[in-house]
Amino acid sequence: VHKDPNSMAGSAAAHVLIFPFPAQGHVTPMLSLAEILSLSGLRITFLNTEHNHRRLLRHSPALSGFARLRNFRFLTIPDGLPEDDPRLSINFFKVQDSMMTSSRDRYKELLTQEIDGWPPVTCVVADGILHLANDVADEVGVPTLVFRTSSPCSCWVYQSLPILLHEGVIPFPEECDMDEMVCGVEGMEGIVRRRDLPSFMRFAKSADEHIIKFISTLNSHAIRGKGFILNSFEALDPTLLSIMRSYYPTIYTVGPLHLHVTSFISNYNEEEAEEEEVDYKSSSGSTSLWQEDRTCMTWLDNQRDKSVVYVSFGSVAVVSREQLNEFWQGLVNSGHRFLWAVRRDMVVSQGEEMMNGTAVAEELEKGTKERGCMVDWAPQEEVLAHRAVGCFLTHSGWNSTLEGLVAGVPMICWPYFADQMINSRFTSEVWRIGVDMKDRCDRITVERMVREVMEGESALRLRSSAAKMGELARKSVEEGGTSRADLESLVRYIKSTGS
Ligand code: UDP
Repeated sequence: VHKDPNSMAGSAAAHVLIFPFPAQGHVTPMLSLAEILSLSGLRITFLNTEHNHRRLLRHSPALSGFARLRNFRFLTIPDGLPEDDPRLSINFFKVQDSMMTSSRDRYKELLTQEIDGWPPVTCVVADGILHLANDVADEVGVPTLVFRTSSPCSCWVYQSLPILLHEGVIPFPEECDMDEMVCGVEGMEGIVRRRDLPSFMRFAKSADEHIIKFISTLNSHAIRGKGFILNSFEALDPTLLSIMRSYYPTIYTVGPLHLHVTSFISNYNEEEAEEEEVDYKSSSGSTSLWQEDRTCMTWLDNQRDKSVVYVSFGSVAVVSREQLNEFWQGLVNSGHRFLWAVRRDMVVSQGEEMMNGTAVAEELEKGTKERGCMVDWAPQEEVLAHRAVGCFLTHSGWNSTLEGLVAGVPMICWPYFADQMINSRFTSEVWRIGVDMKDRCDRITVERMVREVMEGESALRLRSSAAKMGELARKSVEEGGTSRADLESLVRYIKSTGS
């Protein structure tokens, strides 16, 4: 990969617009990709919603590093929601529909006109779940690369939806055995049970037509695109990826992106930064939409090696006060120390109205001051890399899963919805780097699983597989690794759109 924009035919004219769904788990990996592509000599426009861009600027000073990248710019687009809307990612369809109607014209303009003297967009990297990003690019004839920020296994299960419907696997019969194996997902025989299918499939009876239509459109975009980008690496799912390759257009597995960006930048610095007189290291760092509370790092510094359970359920999941209490009791009863990120908007009461998560967390923290540390939002990548962290109690979001895997930290999975159901199954049964407490949320299970992952033979076994998996991930993003090679072909393709 070369920085020199003229190193390949067409590269000087190639201009890629990157458009994520406005949620943390989408913006973060797409920004990492944008950074690497920019350092590879491509001209990048990164499109954020106005609301998210303001939040990013407020909470992520590292973002200013992007401004130093040559040929990189942020543009913003309205999301159409009222100023005071909390924009919870859990209200996915509301955001999706609002953008479809309110942002269409502006997006079309960005794809078809020269803005601020920049050359026209020659290629779009569209978030696979953002229909607007894909539809309009198709309509105006700009080649689209589809980036799905979730795992290969979940993309494949979604893609199998028509077969599952046709074979009558879904809707599930009433009062069925949720542990029964599912047929119809090629390559996953003997692995996937009913309860491991994405959560919406459980309720497909009332056939949420809206959801089924959404997934069908998602699938057709993935197939119609010029390429399919995944934040994963070959060695994690070789068999599955080879099945998927016969189905999708060219697949580029360029992950784990958070690791790739670090490795890429350090190589870049050694070789080229001097010449460019730019410190690119400073462009990497947090891309949080929430304010990180770094006090937990000091707390971690005072803990023994591998003695802490880090708990986080990501940016979308919400829990009831009762569930929070069960987790807390289980953690306390395990006798291990824990660091827990409880977002302010994470706790809901029965009627779904939000409670002040910080206040609830503070209340729980009382009496466990010594043993537990609670923050609104943690610098998660750094936390997972800390020597004191021995296990990760996670909702199995794909970014979190990759971050845990790269850090070599075994996981306890409590999947909340969507793709997390299959991610947790793969974490426990295929990659064997964690345990899955799916569909259970009681103090006894929490305590038992914490002990299993933190103590004795089972802990040693899980730690050793997690470390091996982390090593494979590292190899994949190094010079000569599979993710690095896929990145190079992706860059070549994008450059060709400028010819
Ligand atoms: N995250 C963080 N601090 C927190 C909780 C989460 O930085 O306290 C980050 C985490 O590192 C990950 C992202 O938020 O990159 C969550 O993405 P994921 O795909 O795991 O879950 P989602 O939020 O989409 O459910």
